[in-house]
Amino acid sequence: MNQPCKYHPATEALWFCRHDGLFLCQQCVDGREDNLVEARCLLCNQDVEATGQSGGGPLWQQLERCLRLPFTPVLLPVLLVWGLVAALIPPVPELLALTLLGGVPAFGFGQAIMAARTHPRRGRAVVAVPGWDALSSGLGWKGALLQAAPALLVLLLAGALMLFFSVPVGLVVGALLLLLVPALWLAIQVQGAEPGSYAAAPTYLVSVPRDYAVAAGLASVGGLLVGAVLLVAVDVMPSPLVQSLGGVLAAVWWLSLAALCGEMLGRHGRLWGINTGSARVTTPLAARRQNVQLCAGRYDKVLLSTAKIVKTKKATVADWQRLDRLLQVLGREDERRANAEPYLDALVSAENWSAARQLIAEQQQRQPQWLPGDPGLRWVLARGLYDLDPKLVVNLLKEMHERHPEFSELGNAYLLLARTLAEKFGLAGKAEQYLRFVESHCRDARLRQQVAEYRAAWGA
Ligand SMILES: [Zn+2]
Ligand SMILES: [Zn+2]
Repeated sequence: MNQPCKYHPATEALWFCRHDGLFLCQQCVDGREDNLVEARCLLCNQDVEATGQSGGGPLWQQLERCLRLPFTPVLLPVLLVWGLVAALIPPVPELLALTLLGGVPAFGFGQAIMAARTHPRRGRAVVAVPGWDALSSGLGWKGALLQAAPALLVLLLAGALMLFFSVPVGLVVGALLLLLVPALWLAIQVQGAEPGSYAAAPTYLVSVPRDYAVAAGLASVGGLLVGAVLLVAVDVMPSPLVQSLGGVLAAVWWLSLAALCGEMLGRHGRLWGINTGSARVTTPLAARRQNVQLCAGRYDKVLLSTAKIVKTKKATVADWQRLDRLLQVLGREDERRANAEPYLDALVSAENWSAARQLIAEQQQRQPQWLPGDPGLRWVLARGLYDLDPKLVVNLLKEMHERHPEFSELGNAYLLLARTLAEKFGLAGKAEQYLRFVESHCRDARLRQQVAEYRAAWGA
């Protein structure tokens, strides 16, 4: 790992904020995961830079290694196959396209070379050269063919232009179109073996321009050189030999370019969303922003945004808890006290009775005898706390008729109070007082029925 995220030490940083001087991971920036060149810092809201992934010097220093790769013993047969197949095709212009068939092993190996850097196996050093077994699995063939298709189209087009129109035009058109081939290969490799992946190619063109220039240069100049060598050879060698040479050179070009693209995947894979080593970002942006601000000690900012959130309907218990904790950390006890009732309301809406009970207890430590003022809140609380804290239920409901005589649920509240007294504390006599109150003040037949049932049950 190059540089860990400042706030997620186990995750590699993909971004650097120049303003704050921080290395940050994808969790800690505001940016879409498929956008690899743009994101903003969650602290200062300014653009962050993508961090380069690996050292190992500039990419062009790897050119020599990539150009030597096709001549390793495992890959030599790939060159021979293309050379042999190309030699066997009759030297008729219309049939020359068939020489491309000899490249099939090269397509497969090219894909395997890139795949080895796309998904390096754990605990193994970078695999430079895959074996023939990499081709037998058949898994990579779809990708290999999708990568081969655009490159072959370019080669065919350039060849046809050279043969039937003019040699310079064919060379120039071929060289220009070949500039795009590495981007298309990378797109298939990173986005998956689907034709739709081609659309992502511009990303790889622009996200690491310097390294891409090296790959595009190898693709284009390499292609031009092969063309030039063949143009010279055609005057001094018999046709089958020229075609064979063309096959071998094409294989060398193909495999070296694949090796260079593999090197790019190894260097920038994390930037492109592969091998990120971390889970996808699933936490909502607002929560991630708060987390970063908390880590950076910007409590006032978090407090501001949290206070804004709890005023909305979307506020969750977690938001209220955060606000309460922040106020506690910052020692703003007055605000904490003022927020107790709406916080309690949120806990009641979430039916989090134990937390509600805890909050009342804390509030009573600061302010003995404190209870929420709103009779509706008291009534809902009392219902929820019936089993958990009967003593608190009694405190919440007693004397309600004196303070809130107009409260619409008064009858029900006193029935609950009577039931608590009788069933939780065995105070049937005291309960009877409240039953009488309900009887004399409430005309609702259902309530009176309930009074009768309670009396029968408690034998009063
Ligand atoms: Zn992070
Ligand atoms: Zn910043």
